[in-house]
Amino acid sequence: MTREDGRSASELRPIHIEKAFLRNAHGSALVTWGHTRVLCTAMFSAGVPSFLENTDQGWLTAEYAMLPASTPQRKPRDRQRPDGRSTEIGRLIGRALRCVCDLTSIPGYTITIDCDVIDADGGTRTASITGAYVALRECEARMEAEGLLLKPLLWDGVAAVSCGIVDGETLLDLAYNEDSRADADINVVFSHSGGLIEVQGTGEKRPISSDELTVLMELATAGARQIQEIQKAALGL
Ligand code: UDP
Repeated sequence: MTREDGRSASELRPIHIEKAFLRNAHGSALVTWGHTRVLCTAMFSAGVPSFLENTDQGWLTAEYAMLPASTPQRKPRDRQRPDGRSTEIGRLIGRALRCVCDLTSIPGYTITIDCDVIDADGGTRTASITGAYVALRECEARMEAEGLLLKPLLWDGVAAVSCGIVDGETLLDLAYNEDSRADADINVVFSHSGGLIEVQGTGEKRPISSDELTVLMELATAGARQIQEIQKAALGL
């Protein structure tokens, strides 16, 4: 099968990350991932959720949204509260980043990550996590410069990528035209040191075998290694 955009099965879409995209944000990154584009920001503020009051740790939380014209049919704004999908993705982004944070470095503070999809073509959650890590690094540096960090916040990096099975073929990094007809669709979050942070996988049209899962995880692992290099380049590391 040839992919509509001419990629090989194990090829990522072109990915570009522009750090410090916004002037007012404590950290920001504009991620361009093929035709998908997500603006990720990180802002710190004093205060923690009530369950962390009077403890030695701060908090990190995340929200995700798609702008109205990010999809072919206008998506109404979440005026009341986010839909189930956006809530689920926001929680995924927060969990992924908390996994590599030492929250005892920011007692009394909350960092809020916002990921806003400006153009959607599949893989928006993995682009969000990947960009949010870059924005969070910038936010960490800002907090350090302001004397607010007791010790380093991030002790590892985070990168995420999707893969799936389309027409019987295992493919890395599904675009929407592939995702929408995939037999199986898996999103994998890795630490830069190579550990697994989260695997979200679904046999959409049929159950998948553990052999297929092994091949998908190999594709994702190789993809994530390339993505971390792009993140490091964006961060000047
Ligand atoms: N999508 C859409 N409208 C929606 C939700 C999704 O057009 O309300 C499209 C969009 O291109 C998105 C893709 O479907 O990137 C795949 O959505 P999925 O829920 O699998 O998440 P993603 O792959 O973006 O993380």
